[in-house]
Amino acid sequence: MKKTLITGAAGFLGSHLCDRFIAEGHHVIGMDNLITGDLRNIEHLFHLDRFDFYHHDVSKFVHVPSKMDYILHFASPASPIDYLKIPIETLKVGSLGTLNLLGLARDHKARILVASTSEVYGDPLVHPQNEDYYGNVSPIGPRGVYDEAKRFMESITMAYHRHHGLDTRIVRIFNTYGSRMRLNDGRVVPAFMGQALRGEDLTVFGDGSQTRSFTYIDDQVEGIYRLLMSDYVEPINIGNPDETTILEFAEEIIKLTGTDQKIVFKPLPQDDPLQRQPDITRAKEILRWEPKVHRSEGLKKVYDYFKSLPHDQLWEAHRDFLP
Ligand code: UDP
Repeated sequence: MKKTLITGAAGFLGSHLCDRFIAEGHHVIGMDNLITGDLRNIEHLFHLDRFDFYHHDVSKFVHVPSKMDYILHFASPASPIDYLKIPIETLKVGSLGTLNLLGLARDHKARILVASTSEVYGDPLVHPQNEDYYGNVSPIGPRGVYDEAKRFMESITMAYHRHHGLDTRIVRIFNTYGSRMRLNDGRVVPAFMGQALRGEDLTVFGDGSQTRSFTYIDDQVEGIYRLLMSDYVEPINIGNPDETTILEFAEEIIKLTGTDQKIVFKPLPQDDPLQRQPDITRAKEILRWEPKVHRSEGLKKVYDYFKSLPHDQLWEAHRDFLP
């Protein structure tokens, strides 16, 4: 039986990856320090013999007793609100955490896949973004702690590959949405859906002309799985090229939820990228992967998920945004 370590296991992406690798018959070890993760995302796995959970911060030395075949490094805060609240932890998990896991992979002769991001392109001057674009990143802005940690992650991963012959993979993840996103992490999908459910106005930052391209979680997990199983070492974009402005997106959410909320405009956060759309030619050619779930279908599923959450969870999230 294959053994797979997933860091950030209690988070949004990590918990869905745990589900997928369990379904593929692996023994999964989930690791998380729970600063942004939530055990409720994986508690359905706790009764399984093929699932273990380690409460550990991967920025500190990582020890796993049995031999791992695969390591997926998905531990990291992943929303602009989190980077502002816990900037040092964000830098440490992408840098020291990656270093520790590369060392572990070397020790175990395991294949390691690291979760990079479209943020390595910063506020891109090339559109759509392909993997050969080096990006336009401010190292000292509020997002720099995330962007630069991920750029370091890619750099050290390639160094371990070239210098030590380590079996490595790098995925560049574009905006992804699905169940188990944290309602209070400030990202646009849970933010708008939470607002619609609480009967509040939807807060569009700036004039809403900035664009994003949203990928449904099942598509994202499939792309990551295929990349891990491929023999491709350079970074690959996994994202949905279906681009929308944030203003259109807010209107779409209002229509979907059938609420009559208004849109209110708030200042655009510093260094908020103006446009983002993946070029997925490489994923199509090498992984035979492309997204299958249309935005309207994916958003409906996620809305049903948020609607099903207990009421206090919805209002708990709201309190985090009060001044
Ligand atoms: N955004 C918004 N209102 C919100 C939350 C986010 O208009 O309540 C905007 C944000 O400024 C950005 C886009 O939505 O332009 C996506 O934001 P998110 O934090 O989800 O991801 P990222 O900026 O990292 O792509």
